[in-house]
Amino acid sequence: MKNLLKKVFVLGLASAMLLLSGCGGKQTSNSSVKGTAAQSTTIQKYHWKMVTSWPKNFPGLGMAPEKFAKHVNEMSGGRLTIQVYGAGELVPGFEVFDAVSQGTVQMGHSGAYYWKGKIPASPLFGALPFGMTATELNAWLYYGGGMELYREMYKPFGIIPMAGGNTGAQFGGWFKKEINSMDDLKGLKMRIPGLAGDVLKKAGAIPVNLTGGEIFSSLQSGAIDATEWVGPYNDLAFGFYQAADYYYTSVWHEPSAGLEFLINEKAFNSLPKDLQQIIIVAARAVNEDTLDEYNARNNSALKTLVEEHHVKLRQFPPAVLAQLKKYTAEVMAEQAAKDAGFAKVWKSYSEFLANIRSYNDLTLKEYYKNR
Ligand code: CA
Repeated sequence: MKNLLKKVFVLGLASAMLLLSGCGGKQTSNSSVKGTAAQSTTIQKYHWKMVTSWPKNFPGLGMAPEKFAKHVNEMSGGRLTIQVYGAGELVPGFEVFDAVSQGTVQMGHSGAYYWKGKIPASPLFGALPFGMTATELNAWLYYGGGMELYREMYKPFGIIPMAGGNTGAQFGGWFKKEINSMDDLKGLKMRIPGLAGDVLKKAGAIPVNLTGGEIFSSLQSGAIDATEWVGPYNDLAFGFYQAADYYYTSVWHEPSAGLEFLINEKAFNSLPKDLQQIIIVAARAVNEDTLDEYNARNNSALKTLVEEHHVKLRQFPPAVLAQLKKYTAEVMAEQAAKDAGFAKVWKSYSEFLANIRSYNDLTLKEYYKNR
């Protein structure tokens, strides 16, 4: 038995050497070929699938997972490759969480607030009306205890979440008619996910949840009266200006929108430590890169919308924003009373926000006025 194994090993080594001598560089010496061949028999490669909630290769949102996969592939020397799928290619956009939780795929890329039916606290890790900006959210996640809570909330589902990009402040959305008072929100059918939908419900509107790819046709057909999506860079790509005249610049419902990588816990734990670290570092890099891209490209897209497509920019009246803020406080209190997980995360979030806000009010808020 021992001799047989030895023969198999020697045969395997010889064929690996033949293979390498056929495709290797000309300068390779015999001894280094041997070394490479012996090593290559022990290298384990991993091929993962990542499903997303975005159209394949969509600017910003859809490119974040593509960039992540490229980083991981290159940093690991091809030991971990990740195939990225657009919404609907393997699973629908809103089934990303389940696919990762069940282990159908190893990874997903999406937005945390889509899972508020499963994890009431999830929107707090992504986008919250009148909540944190992107830099504040990242500070909380990485240095304020947010990431520990994020992981705690997703653990029962066998998922490790990682911050996976941020769009920065989002526009108030596209409307077919102007919003001059709270009355104009009554009966309005608007695509708006997350807790902002609950806030609008209090105002008498009808919030609708649609994935990105479903919005344009719904707005054009009149199935919905209004929609929010992201901001100029992404909204221009979907062509919403063809279906609604008024574009509200007011930031209220998503002062930042954190995207997320969802990783099946068992798949992650099965990786060697260096590949795990590559995933962590690549996620952190893409998290920042996405925000940088939106910041760089939003305003030129806004110019195109106004100058070429004659979009009418509007702001919500202060009285409307004040009322929406009041409703937001009510939604927060109701959610915290209903769910212990939400209450725990909200305590951490709101304390951190109060703290960082007082600093930002002293510094950046004044600076924005003065520069
Ligand atoms: Ca949005």
